[in-house]
Amino acid sequence: MATATQEYGLWINGESADSTEIRDLTEPATGEPLARAAMAGKEDVDRAVEAARGALDGAWGKTPGNERSRLLHALADAIASNRKELAELESRNVGKAISSVKAELAQAVDNFRFYASAIASIAGRSNPIGGSLLFYSLKEPVGVCGQIVPWNYPLMMTTWKLAPALAAGCAVVLKPDPATPLTALRIAQLADEVGIPPGVINIVPGDGPTTGAYLVRHEGIDKIAFTGSTQTGAEIMRLAAAPLKRVTLELGGKSPNLVFADANLTDAIPSSVWSIYYSAGQSCEARSRVLVESSLYDDFVQSFADAASRLKVGDPLDPETQVGSLISAAHRDKVHGFVEQGIEEGAELVIGGEPADGAGAFYPPTVLAKVENRMTVAQEEIFGPVVTVIPFEDEKDAIRIANDSRYGLYATVWTGDPARGHRLAARIKSGSVGINMPYTAFPGIPFGGYKQSGFGRELGLETLELYLETKSVLVSTGAKPYNPFGL
Ligand code: NAD
Ligand code: MN
Repeated sequence: MATATQEYGLWINGESADSTEIRDLTEPATGEPLARAAMAGKEDVDRAVEAARGALDGAWGKTPGNERSRLLHALADAIASNRKELAELESRNVGKAISSVKAELAQAVDNFRFYASAIASIAGRSNPIGGSLLFYSLKEPVGVCGQIVPWNYPLMMTTWKLAPALAAGCAVVLKPDPATPLTALRIAQLADEVGIPPGVINIVPGDGPTTGAYLVRHEGIDKIAFTGSTQTGAEIMRLAAAPLKRVTLELGGKSPNLVFADANLTDAIPSSVWSIYYSAGQSCEARSRVLVESSLYDDFVQSFADAASRLKVGDPLDPETQVGSLISAAHRDKVHGFVEQGIEEGAELVIGGEPADGAGAFYPPTVLAKVENRMTVAQEEIFGPVVTVIPFEDEKDAIRIANDSRYGLYATVWTGDPARGHRLAARIKSGSVGINMPYTAFPGIPFGGYKQSGFGRELGLETLELYLETKSVLVSTGAKPYNPFGL
């Protein structure tokens, strides 16, 4: 387990590597030192990209699908057998409730298993095109992938990124957020222990605008896969233009949770509470806009606030805790600034709204009612335990408000009318819609954004395509030679 004096190196070419910069990491829930971690500079990124290219041109490039599948299953096994250590490390590094981390770990294991099996689906095709011409296609790995992940789910995002890339046969240079590199480093070490060849996974923690931007512009990188804010995503698109690379982006959200008067409220209320406050609201798909049919509005706000105030906020390592700390005191202040702005704009503070005392970065579950969708708190991603509750008149009004956002990542609909559920699923502009179901991420089900929430999909079979090139092979089967100029 991490201690204040323990040092974590970079991970390059199958071993821990030194760098010129070592940084102290803080435990968000206590404000105390947690560990010391190496940060990658340009030369380190160069070495990591070279190692990845070496793996691709060497042993990894020759590893057949069956063997890649076996290795991914072995990594899933290794994560499962080390889950206690990984869960504690993640919980302490992020400040996140260990109950959530355990669920994320279980999903990480499933995700490696899903892609281990999905390797069997990688295949070209052949189709008749007439004449004496045979066509077939080959699927080849895109190459060396730069993957950039945020601090809110360091372990889960690392596994979302690694599993499809490795399944496709790519090699990876992954940059975690500088504050939260520990579990990604440990996973790379486990990958090495189970026999994934050196250079296939390289981990280079570092700051975004320097280390991250250098990775995105690197000429040895073929594809960038990014998760984080929409603003940084836009910058990455610009940076990835020269030399040009493939790009996929999983960005922010301001996802609606629609509650109709005909919904089963004994389910809709606790599920809606969970949908914003798990991970302390620091989720891209947090349902941070709760839209409620007006006939139900006042009672709903009361019941929702009652349920939210019963949440157990506190020590992330306590198995009973439901909401841990935020990632940092600075982020807590940013969240609080949004709440103050909401009140200024006319929203009504129902519960929460005051940062906790003490050194930890805690913020209480907060409910803002009487919110209008044009307010900043309804348009901007707050990324904290703050919900905005907005009334709507009817189905048409609900759809209008749900879509009145630059984001489009997720939407959840609560209704007793199945036909209405399907109508909304068709009309809401988001990558996913849940009907009477709060959960969002399942290995095998594509996850990703419409509009400013990005493009590309994670977790699905579709994701494999984003790590593969299609090569068309055309063969003459005719008896007569081709002689286009008639020479
Ligand atoms: P960010 O988007 O800036 O950072 C995400 C990752 O990108 C980190 O690894 C970071 O080091 C890297 N990065 C930053 N600038 C880069 C650049 N120019 N080139 C390459 N890589 C770069 O997010 P943040 O600053 O940590 O958080 C700010 C806000 O973003 C949050 O408050 C939240 O609203 C949002 N956010 C969303 C998600 C999500 O899952 N959609 C995740 C994290 C943050
Ligand atoms: Mn090794």
